[in-house]
Amino acid sequence: SNHDIECMGCGVKVQTENPNELGYAPASALEKESIICQRCFKLKHYNEVQDVSLTDDDFLKILNEVGRTDSLIVKIVDIFDFNGSWLPGLHRFVGNNDVLLIGNKADLLPKSVKHNRVIHWMKESAKELGLNPIDVLLVSADKGNYIREAAEAIDHYRRDLDVYVVGCTNVGKSTFINRLIKEVTGEGDIITTSHFPGTTLDTIEIPLDDGKALIDTPGIINHHQMAHFVDKRDLKVITPKKEIKPKIYQLNEQQTLFFGGLARLDYIAGGKRSFTCYISNELDIHRTKLEKADELYKNHAGEMLTPPRLEQMDEFPELVRREFTIKEGKTDVVFSGLGWVTVNEPGAKIAAYVPKGVNIMIRKSLI
Ligand code: GDP
Repeated sequence: SNHDIECMGCGVKVQTENPNELGYAPASALEKESIICQRCFKLKHYNEVQDVSLTDDDFLKILNEVGRTDSLIVKIVDIFDFNGSWLPGLHRFVGNNDVLLIGNKADLLPKSVKHNRVIHWMKESAKELGLNPIDVLLVSADKGNYIREAAEAIDHYRRDLDVYVVGCTNVGKSTFINRLIKEVTGEGDIITTSHFPGTTLDTIEIPLDDGKALIDTPGIINHHQMAHFVDKRDLKVITPKKEIKPKIYQLNEQQTLFFGGLARLDYIAGGKRSFTCYISNELDIHRTKLEKADELYKNHAGEMLTPPRLEQMDEFPELVRREFTIKEGKTDVVFSGLGWVTVNEPGAKIAAYVPKGVNIMIRKSLI
């Protein structure tokens, strides 16, 4: 058992079982005299921040401790999964600290979409969710777009304070911080790690030039994401990698769309109308008659309607149905982690289906 071994870099308890969790080090590292966890190893040798995740309880502890600091909080969300990556409790913990809200993965938005509109939408949505950010920015960490602007905004709003970066896993927090490191320190500079004194925070500090630091906190897992229900090999099918090409469907009443075998939309009533799908370009959309949809799913989920895979079907959760009446035009039906369908005109009666455990919601259209 390794229960006594601590990482020299960050002080975390070292474990050798789960590479995606805090404190992981390969078993071979235990033979060395001074042991550092894989996360610190990467930071030390490659200047690279690695993504680690936490349990909900540990995450609440971290939010609590961040709330007690005097700092700027930078909260990263994935604009493709805005609500799913929101961190609902955060505003209760921030205390008097300012929150700078950064929407990542801007590169996925169709080119025709005005960034100012999305930023405005994010501000309004944040307010509705109880958070009043000091500013809202859009970036693409992956493409390196607007990183300089983000670095400048962080420097402006932190007013000589420390900066905590928070966000749930998969929002691109590590990618963002790695970009930021290059922006702030320039390539090749050495980054040091240190344990945040006197707390249980398993954080990584990147020193800023005034003696303050940018502090990366571990991400919390969003359990309601579609990603948890697909095979690892299919993640690339549902996770968009480049600009989304919206697909428009003219549907008659009593027609159904399947998104692979992961989600379903029934158009129940409201006359012929258009639906715009903002879903990964790689995921097949299949149109059928509503009266045939149940049968089709029963017979073809896992093959024609895939992902999920056939060998997964035994444990794949049943699709759960929720009915909505769309009262306003330009309403998004959001399938958490998969994307959304915009209902362009008001007055449609629809039913949306996702695997049990995945979130589904309607919202004012983002685009
Ligand atoms: P973390 O868990 O929040 O640290 O997220 P990562 O930095 O590991 O990124 C999660 C996934 O999102 C990876 O597959 C990244 O390639 C992807 N990703 C990160 N930033 C962007 C971005 O700006 N655009 C797109 N399209 N994907 C991104």
